[in-house]
Amino acid sequence: MYSPKYFFLLFLLLSSCSRKGLLLNSADLGNNYFYEVNLNEIKEDRLAVKLTVFGIKTEEAVFNFPRIVPGIYGAMDFGRNIEHFQALSGTDTLPVERIGTNSWKIRNAQKISEIRYDVNDGWEEFGSGVTEGFYRSAESSFSKDKVFVINNNTLFGYFTGGEKWPVFVTIERPENFYAATSLNRRSQAPGKDEFSAGTYRELVDNPILYARPDTVNLQIGNTLVTVACYAGSGTKLAPDIARKIRPLMEKQREYLGGTLPVDRYTFLFYHSLHNRKGEYTGDGLEHATSTLCLLNSTLDSTLLQGFVYGIASHEFFHILTPLTVHSEEIENYDFLAPTMSQHLWLYEGMTEYFMLHMPVKQGIESLEDFLSKVQRKTNDMMHFDNNIPLTELSRSTMERQDQYYNFYLKGALVNLCLDIRLRELSEGVY
Ligand SMILES: [Zn+2]
Repeated sequence: MYSPKYFFLLFLLLSSCSRKGLLLNSADLGNNYFYEVNLNEIKEDRLAVKLTVFGIKTEEAVFNFPRIVPGIYGAMDFGRNIEHFQALSGTDTLPVERIGTNSWKIRNAQKISEIRYDVNDGWEEFGSGVTEGFYRSAESSFSKDKVFVINNNTLFGYFTGGEKWPVFVTIERPENFYAATSLNRRSQAPGKDEFSAGTYRELVDNPILYARPDTVNLQIGNTLVTVACYAGSGTKLAPDIARKIRPLMEKQREYLGGTLPVDRYTFLFYHSLHNRKGEYTGDGLEHATSTLCLLNSTLDSTLLQGFVYGIASHEFFHILTPLTVHSEEIENYDFLAPTMSQHLWLYEGMTEYFMLHMPVKQGIESLEDFLSKVQRKTNDMMHFDNNIPLTELSRSTMERQDQYYNFYLKGALVNLCLDIRLRELSEGVY
């Protein structure tokens, strides 16, 4: 997980070296979402979305967009980009009341056959201006004929009580565009893709990059890793990046015991160009089986490869935690008012510890180098508040963003201690 702040800090280091919903019984709504979008029909930077839905049995229903999504720690209110919201029964319009930035209450809901709305994008070209608390890697960006960065939480919503319904999405696209994503692809026809997700949460966890194909597939053990790139400059980036990260991922696989817990993983990489040498801005968000990375920089292939290498070395290890090991707050994520678990120190700290430990364990780095990295983390953590337990900081991470980076310092070191202790207790077995 890497917030823009984390990135900012990372780059700094690198360069010096009232929820209002009607709770419906999901059995009453036992149903599916059928979404349709046409990327060819973008108008004034907006996409029109159509949702077909049947069989709602309640008099009122509340339709929502997330206030926040997993991996970011600030409210984004994705409903703010929604316009012309309409609920229809055949050709009749149903009474709708917007009850908040992210929620619409629909009356006579049992008659709903369709919902329609327009979506504006969250940013245009990824550039250097960073706004505190605005997570561009959780937003979408539409550029006709060039690229569509799609975070599904911005395009698609859900009914209160319908978070666990299956979702089917049909996207019409320019014929020369390719959709890179880890989302389950049901079919692919000229100019059209069909995807599905078991739940809304799964849909949101799988961003899509639509662009002219610049893609390389790597078979890493049992996992198909896709590197998909879009470059504003038109340069093909995927082959170089794939060549750079392949050996890393092989070592990561060995480190994790040879078999990986996922059968596919996708790196989505967006690059926009500027000409100010030595200056770059990055942003990104990791998901269970993919990572979306945004970078604004000069076209320096060493820099680009290093950037993706740095991301891959941390983010890929998230397939262990929180993907496979997580608490109920993550399992049943509330998109309108999430409660933070006590375990961010584990999700981020252990992931960062794996990144730290893998090279020395796999023999691609010396013990001295490992120890000097440990020493650096120990020194750097002194700049943060040493009186907040990491469990408490995990719970209050939205309010204590100033302390967030310590999960990558003290958090990693706590996991090093945990590793040592487990070795002790298991007499070297764990
Ligand atoms: Zn992370």
